[in-house]
Amino acid sequence: MRFLVFLEHHEGKLQKDSLGLLSRAVSLGDAEAVVLGSGVAELAAEAGRFGAQRVHVDDDVLLDRPLPQPRVDALQALLEDERFDAVLFAASVLSADVAAALAARLDAGLNYDLTDLAVEDGKLVGKRPALGDSVYVDVGWSSEPRLALIRSGTFEPKEVGGSAEVAQFESRFQDFSLAATMVEQAHEESEGPSIEDADVIVAAGRGLGGPDNFGLVEELAKALGGAVAATRAVVDAGWYPYPTQVGQTGKTVSPKLYVAVGISGAIQHKVGMQSSGLIVAINKDPNAPIFEYADLGVVGDLHEIVPKLTELVRARKAA
Ligand SMILES: Cc1cc2nc3c(=O)[nH]c(=O)nc-3n(C[C@H](O)[C@H](O)[C@H](O)COP(=O)(O)OP(=O)(O)OC[C@H]3O[C@@H](n4cnc5c(N)ncnc54)[C@H](O)[C@@H]3O)c2cc1C
Repeated sequence: MRFLVFLEHHEGKLQKDSLGLLSRAVSLGDAEAVVLGSGVAELAAEAGRFGAQRVHVDDDVLLDRPLPQPRVDALQALLEDERFDAVLFAASVLSADVAAALAARLDAGLNYDLTDLAVEDGKLVGKRPALGDSVYVDVGWSSEPRLALIRSGTFEPKEVGGSAEVAQFESRFQDFSLAATMVEQAHEESEGPSIEDADVIVAAGRGLGGPDNFGLVEELAKALGGAVAATRAVVDAGWYPYPTQVGQTGKTVSPKLYVAVGISGAIQHKVGMQSSGLIVAINKDPNAPIFEYADLGVVGDLHEIVPKLTELVRARKAA
């Protein structure tokens, strides 16, 4: 099966979600990649290290800004010349725009919000949560090319050390595709790793009791070198910013360590963090659902446990 993985990049680096998806495609069949942008030729080598056999590159100043329509033109041009069984996108605002517009342009089927991909009896099958994330369903495609948008944080990149053949191509841009211009791109200032990239996440739930108590989890996260995340109940209450929400309607994360503090562990939260390496839960209710899937559970008051844990981590690090 021949896959094309759309690789997103930012500030000269390929994005982790794109590389994770590439690694998954490598495990399923012949994986090629496409990199679009301006001054991006050297990114092809990086994709080779993650197992891409061939990297299609359109290096064009008209692709400089992260706008969707010129990318749709470029992908359409590539797909007119080359046949792929599936075109895969790691979910982001840009990729979602590009995938949806490409599906409309090619009259192709797009399955979105996938949390896994498999090849079964020679057919590509997507896995996605349904019915409020209470069940997983298999989805397929009835036409080609099969387009798929994968949830952020689903696959870990695996470096395999290969090198890719680079295939340069050029696109013809439609006038309407160049009509939009980007006036400004602003980045939110934040300290420490983002929850998508962090190896350690300390996540807080309503059990924290109020926004003023976030210092407790921030201190623990700082001591562990991690990032702070939150449940929907917390962000809906305005205690912490929306970009930190983990779960069905938030982000999917897979850190090495996930410390859940005062979180009940609802299914909608679980789907966003269940692939974490080690899950530690601190909750005063021994019957909280989080204990059903935590690797390590501490039953007790977080206001007593978290400061002691932070102290202990700091002492161990200093030793
Ligand atoms: C369509 C839909 C989508 C949703 N999407 C998401 C999503 O993306 N992410 C998400 O998180 N939720 C989501 N939810 C909400 C989800 O169902 C839960 O309501 C939410 O996750 C609960 O958040 P919580 O664990 O912070 O709060 P609660 O369920 O209120 O749990 C608080 C926990 O803190 C414990 N606690 C209280 N005091 C202490 C203390 N002093 N010390 C220790 N423990 C204490 C309690 O025992 C309790 O278990 C969604 C719901 C729906 C219907």
